Amino acid sequence: MLTDHFRPQSFNGIDDIVIVGGGLAGLFCALKLAPRPVTILAAAPIGYGASSAWAQGGIAAAMSKGDTFEKHVADTVAAGAGIVDEKMTRMMVAEGPARIHDLLEFGVPFDRDLEGKLLLSREAAHSERRIVRVKGDMAGKSIMEALIAAVRNTPSIRVIEGYVVEELVREGRFISGVIARPDAGQSKSRVSFPARAVVLCSGGVGHLYAVTTNPWEACGQGVGMAARAGAIIADPEFVQFHPTAIDIGKDPAPLATEALRGDGATLINSEGRRFMLDIHPDGELAPRDIVSRGVFAEVQAGRGAFLDCTKAVGRHFPEMFPTVYASCMAAGIDPVRQPIPVTPAVHYHMGGVLTDGEGRTSIDGLWAAGEVTSTGVHGANRLASNSLLEAVVFAARIAENIKGSLPAPKLTAWGDNAGENDDPVTVEDSPPFKMLRQLMSDCVGVVRTRESLTRAIRGIAELERTNKRLRFANIVTTAKLIAIAALQRTESRGGHFRADCPDERPEWRRRTYLTLAQAERLAAEVAESEPA
Ligand SMILES: Cc1cc2nc3c(=O)[nH]c(=O)nc-3n(C[C@H](O)[C@H](O)[C@H](O)COP(=O)(O)OP(=O)(O)OC[C@H]3O[C@@H](n4cnc5c(N)ncnc54)[C@H](O)[C@@H]3O)c2cc1C
Repeated sequence: MLTDHFRPQSFNGIDDIVIVGGGLAGLFCALKLAPRPVTILAAAPIGYGASSAWAQGGIAAAMSKGDTFEKHVADTVAAGAGIVDEKMTRMMVAEGPARIHDLLEFGVPFDRDLEGKLLLSREAAHSERRIVRVKGDMAGKSIMEALIAAVRNTPSIRVIEGYVVEELVREGRFISGVIARPDAGQSKSRVSFPARAVVLCSGGVGHLYAVTTNPWEACGQGVGMAARAGAIIADPEFVQFHPTAIDIGKDPAPLATEALRGDGATLINSEGRRFMLDIHPDGELAPRDIVSRGVFAEVQAGRGAFLDCTKAVGRHFPEMFPTVYASCMAAGIDPVRQPIPVTPAVHYHMGGVLTDGEGRTSIDGLWAAGEVTSTGVHGANRLASNSLLEAVVFAARIAENIKGSLPAPKLTAWGDNAGENDDPVTVEDSPPFKMLRQLMSDCVGVVRTRESLTRAIRGIAELERTNKRLRFANIVTTAKLIAIAALQRTESRGGHFRADCPDERPEWRRRTYLTLAQAERLAAEVAESEPA
């Protein structure tokens, strides 16, 4: 059983909603469910181990005078390269302003002009000024600070930190709870949390790759767990690379926000040449995947890539972009005077657990919100600042749906010891995990081919064969789904680029839906085929 330390008096074990993850999606869903009791299980203390706290740009919402929902939808659809779900996008965009007001009520100090109106900024591929920010690049940190304070002040929310969820428990058609390992996954014992509703908010997959901007907790455990429980996964092949992670050998790589290019910073190589102008008429403000490939090509050619902010931002750098400034200075680079070395890094996963407009997955009792999902609003390429929006809109919709569909809480005996069945090791630091990350970067990265993907699938099978730990199984399952879907999609679209099929193909203008059983059949075929 759990210790009393984890049992605030107000609960007495009568909550039956478990939220996995304490990022923006998880916290917002819990707040929207209040006063209904919920338990949040988070792998790290809330505020840590979540991409949400690192968001530098802000949240997109059509709230300025000249802006309309139609324009926001059109920009999202254009960015998504032909496979955006327009109905879901319309729903998300239309509810954006109300969710921004919710965040203001929770105390988020969004930037305002002298008249007190919200200040809206512009980002690449947005046709209007529609990004609400906080003090330049502090949006994620400020939003999380406000929500954490609200959560700590809400008696119906119990937060259990340092519990790594390893399994979704399925009974017939239903998910009936989760099993988690305490002590940041180091404990020998595991604990079960029965639930009538589980909301998966476990974030992205960045740490499946060797170079990423995501915290290590974002290593695809949620997608893997859901797939292993039988959920349908959508669009897993679509991984977005951020073109300008700061290349100073740090893991995760700090980000040089897109807003710098929005403000006129240029990309140059070691010869001082502005290479993006040869690649796309919009130069540095071309879509993220195109800029990523441009930067990748320079790095591969040994010329390196650098973000030159010296003229466009110059001495205003420290107050305009304090987070980026601090990262650069810590590495001995003064961005006021020197170009910043950059490289593409995995930043966002458009694919994930398939959900509908109410955040329901294909399994009863399991909802999902945030980056772990694939709602269809990002298509093949996410429009910047739409992910925080998606997290709050769908988290709120889930809360409404659960309130409307579940009767009042029943007594549940939570916190039972679920036994010992796995070595309590830090899977995420282990040699197989490092090998997997390198394999994904080398073979399922910015540029993919049939040959590289076949190599990845064979390598993944070998890692799976030799490593049976449960948590590793979740992680490697997600890697397999991404690689299989990337092999199947014999075209290039959005975040998925195949050097051997570099064009979009009309027959592929559709989303991918994949179960683990299907992926395993396809992986077995690859294993039996002749090496490419
Ligand atoms: C550097 C950076 C900058 C970004 N900037 C922007 C931006 O400006 N605008 C924008 O819209 N988007 C931005 N994004 C993307 C956006 O931040 C994320 O998509 C979004 O925050 C995801 O929220 P989430 O709640 O789904 O996941 P997260 O915030 O990542 O939270 C996931 C939670 O799940 C927990 N967790 C994971 N696995 C488990 C497990 N097995 N058991 C228990 N808990 C688990 C984690 O510890 C964490 O608490 C940025 C991302 C990064 C990395």
